[in-house]
Amino acid sequence: MLEIRNLHAGIGDKEILKGIDLIIKPGEVHAIMGPNGSGKSTLSSVIAGNESFEVFEGDILFNGESILDLSPDERAHKGVFLSFQYPIEIPGVTTTNFIKTAINANRKARGLEELPAKDMLKLIREKSELLEMDRKFLSRSLNEGFSGGEKKRNEIFQMAMLEPKLAILDETDSGLDIDALKIVANGVNKLKTSENATIVITHYQRLLDYIIPDFVHVLYDGKIVKSGEKELANELEAKGYDWVK
Ligand code: ADP
Ligand code: MG
Ligand code: MG
Repeated sequence: MLEIRNLHAGIGDKEILKGIDLIIKPGEVHAIMGPNGSGKSTLSSVIAGNESFEVFEGDILFNGESILDLSPDERAHKGVFLSFQYPIEIPGVTTTNFIKTAINANRKARGLEELPAKDMLKLIREKSELLEMDRKFLSRSLNEGFSGGEKKRNEIFQMAMLEPKLAILDETDSGLDIDALKIVANGVNKLKTSENATIVITHYQRLLDYIIPDFVHVLYDGKIVKSGEKELANELEAKGYDWVK
């Protein structure tokens, strides 16, 4: 589904990613771990097409085609979802309306009709039940006055509704309490299918107490310096990041 080949990228002439190779197949959950400043958020931004970053060398293929020339929107329409590190608050726009608009924009870009209201409601009901969400919060203004955990839940709900092929969840290095971690983990576990894939980016090994990744990669100074299965996360927990240097 995703193939990253010898990716060198950065900002201005500063190289942040220094040759990343990564292959992700449908049905897989990959965790990317690494110390602060190693390039984790840069990698997720570059995959999503954030235009502040430049690709110097290498390629990113999505379902066999290079996506380097595509805008963030075009990548989203192909099924790439990047979580928001700093969720926006939109007073007066309910979470439900925001998601309806996002879904219909996505359908339009793919040449599909708007989802009929009845089907939209059915989808909302299914996904909110799957994620054990209190539906009251869907009628509140988007993210306004939401707690950290509620913002996370909202983000996971958006992901559930949009059904991306590849979801990239970049957990900031600060401020995620254990409840928010559990919400993210629970969402990832429940939304996993044989056709979608998830990249979970985290500084914390404890997120991986709740999500069982198929593969763990350690990013250090812009390179993947170690890859393994979930035991690698435990090894990191025991030995710390100094061990991979
Ligand atoms: P991580 O998410 O692993 O903490 P980042 O990808 O945020 O790492 O940052 C990797 C490196 O790139 C750091 O040295 C950081 O200072 C630098 N960097 C990130 N964003 C920018 C930016 N907008 N301008 C300049 N340098 C940046
Ligand atoms: Mg950081
Ligand atoms: Mg980061």
